Amino acid sequence: MRTFRQPSWQCPGPTRVGPWDSLLFGAAQLSNSGCYRLVGSFKMAMNPEDERIFDRLTSTGRVTPRLRHLISQRYNYCSACDYMIDRDRPAFAGYDVVDQPLFLHAKCAEQLMVELATPVYWRDTLNIGVEDNVIVWRYMDFAKFAAMLRQRGLYFPRADQLDDKFEAAAGLAKREPEWDQYYLAHFRKVVVTAPEGYDSPNLTETEIDEQARILLERMKTTKVDARTFYVSCWHANGGESEALWRLYCPPSTVGVAIRTTVKSIWDAVDQELTAAVGRVHYIDFGRSYAMNGTDRIFCKRSSLSHEREIRAVLKSNHPDAVQGRLVSCDLEALIRQVVISPFAPAWFREVVVDLIDRFGFSFNVRPSDLLEEPFF
Ligand SMILES: [Zn+2]
Repeated sequence: MRTFRQPSWQCPGPTRVGPWDSLLFGAAQLSNSGCYRLVGSFKMAMNPEDERIFDRLTSTGRVTPRLRHLISQRYNYCSACDYMIDRDRPAFAGYDVVDQPLFLHAKCAEQLMVELATPVYWRDTLNIGVEDNVIVWRYMDFAKFAAMLRQRGLYFPRADQLDDKFEAAAGLAKREPEWDQYYLAHFRKVVVTAPEGYDSPNLTETEIDEQARILLERMKTTKVDARTFYVSCWHANGGESEALWRLYCPPSTVGVAIRTTVKSIWDAVDQELTAAVGRVHYIDFGRSYAMNGTDRIFCKRSSLSHEREIRAVLKSNHPDAVQGRLVSCDLEALIRQVVISPFAPAWFREVVVDLIDRFGFSFNVRPSDLLEEPFF
């Protein structure tokens, strides 16, 4: 039995992998089952420009929260020159002389980078990047707001505890057989296509089918489990939304909306090693499949698109027993403004101000814009 050899320059870190990679994934899987042989290191096929960087800098694996933030936001664009990084080439994530995080393509890395934290490989993945200055809101009833102040942090429910049963789902159950066929066809191609420089094995049709089925089974047994994610949901909007007031603080209740920015959410979670803050993609599951892999937690049904959600996600390796996690943070820095529900009675504002004061905070509190009077 042969074991797939990792390229020597690979290091632990937020590695992205290529479409290539489904090919390599296939090759690696098959090599373990003893049927496909893949030898040597991919360094042979590397672009000389990239190779020079790897020769000069050894990956340190030191990924600070600020670097993670940058990698997530830049997606596939160089942070120095804004050019797109080629799909079959790595991006270089690391630091300059004054330890500023960088996410660069080879040309810029050559001039600017003094420490390489990790190479990052492009793949057909979701671009969850969202600008730091985007304004986001969280609408909540009074009890949740009080709990937040008392806990001095953000509560992240486990994804399976959220209302949407499609959290971390791959697609519609009724379409599963179709997707199986789609991936079987893909894996058949993987089985018979060797990366450049390697021989394709001579397999019979039955052997190809058999190997493709093994790959499909493996793909499906490494399921994305909603119980391994913790999520804090926010609504992206320059102003208030009457629809969200009605959804989250309907007239029969009292509540508030807190206003902040994407940057402040990143700051709030920056002690969390697995944290990602990103834009939710709305998917028509009648036509599409969610991603394979953990990006799936950023896919929701298109029927929820009015939520315009930005979410902060924490990931754990195994499903945990706890139904949520509390992330302590500086609420004074996070909460830019507290807006009182337009449906709340007049006395409610005083209660909110008093509560904030009792917990020692000094947020800016204002009435809802929905209460403004028209002129004609
Ligand atoms: Zn560049």
